[in-house]
Amino acid sequence: MLSWRVGAVKISCIVEKDEILRVHRFLKGGDQAKMDGLGWLKAPFVDEAGRLNFSVQAFVVETPRRRILVDTCMGNHKPRHGHGAMLATDFLERFEAAGFARDSIDTVLCTHLHYDHVGWNTQRVDGRWVPTFPRARYLMGREEFEHARNDTAEDHGDVFDDSVRPVFDAGLVDLVGAEHQVCDEVSLTPTPGHTLGHVSVRIISEGAEALITGDMAHHPVQMAFPAWHVKSDHDAALSEATRTRVFADAADRGVLLIGSHFYAPTAGRVVRDGEVFRFEA
Ligand SMILES: [Zn+2]
Repeated sequence: MLSWRVGAVKISCIVEKDEILRVHRFLKGGDQAKMDGLGWLKAPFVDEAGRLNFSVQAFVVETPRRRILVDTCMGNHKPRHGHGAMLATDFLERFEAAGFARDSIDTVLCTHLHYDHVGWNTQRVDGRWVPTFPRARYLMGREEFEHARNDTAEDHGDVFDDSVRPVFDAGLVDLVGAEHQVCDEVSLTPTPGHTLGHVSVRIISEGAEALITGDMAHHPVQMAFPAWHVKSDHDAALSEATRTRVFADAADRGVLLIGSHFYAPTAGRVVRDGEVFRFEA
């Protein structure tokens, strides 16, 4: 299990599922020849056939006082279409074996409310969806929540009904602003585009800083080609502008960038490369 120290904070990564994707299918604008021409983009972020390695994973952020889970992957037994359908992984067993008892999580943070970030908010018990982390407050962006509640466009079944509504109905959800300060070391920062209410998670401790991206970026190749974007980006131009702004800031201030869908080693430094950027992990 990968982990990183940011001052007094420890961040651990628990992978739910790794995948291999073709760039032109996964990213609008994605061009295999252009990608192959990038000298810096190598294994493990691409495989020997030039395909993208990709991960669905969750992060546990441990401060001296708090234990915060950032995003909850796809979950088991969820009625989805495609790669997240009716999973039966050992994610939760591995999560607990890593030392993270479900009851020890005091906060669940959702960067946004897509199916691959809210799945383990709930688990199925006796045919019902119940909160997986019953002692946690679940923090969700107010704007994101209102949009997801009214959104029937997402092509993955009843995500809101099986993974968001049950924790809301249990009284565990706090709707927060896009710059919410969670605790001394952890805050949200708005990174709109993928969804309009999308946030990333900023960790600052003892002069060190990290950012957990959420889906403001999906793969390091987007540092060289910020306009390449997933089909599910709500506003492609805004997501590109957000990427360019966040990568520039990370490069200029030496922020450790932790990519929510970046394959291991997952975290690294963003470096300016002419007009764009590259990733040094
Ligand atoms: Zn995602």
